[in-house]
Amino acid sequence: MRHYDYILAGGGCAGLSLVYQLLESSLKEANILIIDPTEGEIPNKTWCYWSTEALPIHPEYARFSWKSFYLKDTQKKLSKSFEHLAYYHLNSHDFYAHVLGKIKANPQVHFLKDEVIQVSSTASSAQVETKSYGSFQCSYVFDSRICSNENTQNLLNQVFIGLRIKSETALFDPKSLGLMDFDTEASTDFDFVYTLPFATHEALIEYTAYTTQEREEQVLLDALTSYLTKKYGTISYEIQFRESGKIPMTTRNLFAPSQSRLVPLGTAAGWTKPSTGYTFALIQENCAQIVKQLEQGHLKNLKFPRKKRFIFYDNILLTIAHRWPKKLPGVFLNLFSSASPDLVFRFLSEKTSFREEIRLLSGLKFGIFIKGLLRYGTH
Ligand SMILES: Cc1cc2nc3c(=O)[nH]c(=O)nc-3n(C[C@H](O)[C@H](O)[C@H](O)COP(=O)(O)OP(=O)(O)OC[C@H]3O[C@@H](n4cnc5c(N)ncnc54)[C@H](O)[C@@H]3O)c2cc1C
Repeated sequence: MRHYDYILAGGGCAGLSLVYQLLESSLKEANILIIDPTEGEIPNKTWCYWSTEALPIHPEYARFSWKSFYLKDTQKKLSKSFEHLAYYHLNSHDFYAHVLGKIKANPQVHFLKDEVIQVSSTASSAQVETKSYGSFQCSYVFDSRICSNENTQNLLNQVFIGLRIKSETALFDPKSLGLMDFDTEASTDFDFVYTLPFATHEALIEYTAYTTQEREEQVLLDALTSYLTKKYGTISYEIQFRESGKIPMTTRNLFAPSQSRLVPLGTAAGWTKPSTGYTFALIQENCAQIVKQLEQGHLKNLKFPRKKRFIFYDNILLTIAHRWPKKLPGVFLNLFSSASPDLVFRFLSEKTSFREEIRLLSGLKFGIFIKGLLRYGTH
């Protein structure tokens, strides 16, 4: 049976990020196998994150960032500017081109277009079984397949559709991104529109809903189109890029647990922030920790546990999203109006101290949080 140092079961964002970081480390000579049934196909995704500087994996030619943003509802617009942070954008096609370019220059990294059926591990090695090419052995397997083994009914999902459009007329202010516009179609869920303006004539506009229901892509697309008409009137535009997604919003561990030589990665490892869906920056951070531990000889901490108080905050927000979704616009507006954006975004990245959280939360209107606390549950 062919043996590799590392096998990646899934070569998406997390799998490729780990390989990229390995190739940047002292382990760059390792024998690596990436197994993915979609090898060669690049998904349309827009990865955004906030940071003081662009992350090392983000190629310079593909960097776009904003220092200002706004939230708005039917009554008011709240405009804010970052102090030290910026909000970065990376297109999946630039990410794949950059990472695959590096991988191609390293012949000890191999791709296999196949489906992983099963992974298992012992104290000294791991084994990966594929659908068409048999089994492979390795020192560690990194698994980013999503294999939900729990009942996911009633799970809240973030569903969205986004169009990158080029309009004939100038419509956008490229200096300020629209983080959340709550002035959307009437719905019983929490809906908002997210706008990334790249130029006066060009923007990615995304219609998003937090929902337990199925929402057909066409329904989201209709909502997005009517938002555009309501906001900009009858406009002519060309669609340059389209993305859609469904991100599970849960604090439960739906996914496979780690074993001694089997390490879950990415969304499958629970690295998606339950209340916002952001994952990209944490993927980079956790992959860096994995590489550092591998360089030191072995992996001792495979789980990257989240601090309990952040799980608690997420559960409160998810309780509100489940029971009183129409209160969420007020919660976000309140959060961003009562504290500096850097503090709020650091809180959303789980990087604040308890003292900072007290400062942040004490500035909020308590009513809805007390209701959330009284009906508290794990989501
Ligand atoms: C459209 C979209 C936009 C997003 N935008 C952002 C954003 O702006 N910021 C942010 O922080 N997060 C964002 N996210 C969330 C998150 O960052 C992404 O979903 C990210 O791709 C997660 O990386 P991953 O490696 O866990 O999953 P994926 O990138 O989906 O990779 C999983 C890989 O596993 C493969 N696979 C599945 N089954 C098997 C199998 N049986 N055998 C082998 N391989 C298999 C898949 O083909 C896939 O390539 C977005 C998500 C989506 C869907």
